[in-house]
Amino acid sequence: MLIAQNLCKTYRRHAVQVPVLTGLNLEVRTGEFLSIVGASGSGKSTLLHLLGTLDAPDSGSVLLDGKRIDNLPADQRGDLRNRTFGYIFQFYHLLPELTMLDNVLMPAYIRQSLFNWWATRGQWRQRAEDLLKRVGLGHRMTHRPRELSGGEMQRTAIARALLMNPRVLLADEPTGNLDVESGGEIVRLLRDINREEGVTIVMVTHNLDIVAATDRVVRMVGGVITEDTPAPRHVFPQPRLAAV
Ligand code: ADP
Ligand code: MG
Repeated sequence: MLIAQNLCKTYRRHAVQVPVLTGLNLEVRTGEFLSIVGASGSGKSTLLHLLGTLDAPDSGSVLLDGKRIDNLPADQRGDLRNRTFGYIFQFYHLLPELTMLDNVLMPAYIRQSLFNWWATRGQWRQRAEDLLKRVGLGHRMTHRPRELSGGEMQRTAIARALLMNPRVLLADEPTGNLDVESGGEIVRLLRDINREEGVTIVMVTHNLDIVAATDRVVRMVGGVITEDTPAPRHVFPQPRLAAV
């Protein structure tokens, strides 16, 4: 469904060049929950940004359903980012002044005419409320981000990412800022969404425990994929210690 072909990306600042992706190939299959692991600085976020057209490669291409998306005009990439992809980040990126409900509604506010928005806002609001209930936050709709825990903020960010009914969720270290327990809840939620809604998920992590909840794991070293295996099945999502 989503293919990276021979991606190269080098960051340049003054005379310093940092080659990050050096000819990377990856195929994401429809409906799978894929995890990407690799050391800090190995280029995982860079790859995710290129897959989601948040940034462009120096060379190589990104294909969605067989069509190139990395070189589309800006407005078409904007539509893809709004409708086809949903993004989840380590630090949630919620707007502090808005309620959780309004944060979830944000993707629908933008990229619609004001008229359209007013005509359809009741349906959007209903969908946002349903999604907040879906992620277990039906009682938190009118709270603001600072009143919530990290896990609750990330669940809100997941609801926001789902609002436009995307085909692919791109999650960059979604549990990186959470304790083990709330991180586990986030990954189980993503797992359920993947199974029940059929949304394809690409998740970057350097936490090897949580990859066991996914279908397949690829490892990045030196700017390319070096390993591609079914995810191990043993530790997660079962609790690690049996109750005594
Ligand atoms: P990861 O997510 O695996 O930790 P990144 O993709 O964030 O890795 O970064 C890969 C390398 O590229 C790192 O060495 C990082 O410092 C560098 N890098 C990332 N973004 C930029 C940027 N905008 N400008 C310059 N260097 C960058
Ligand atoms: Mg990163």
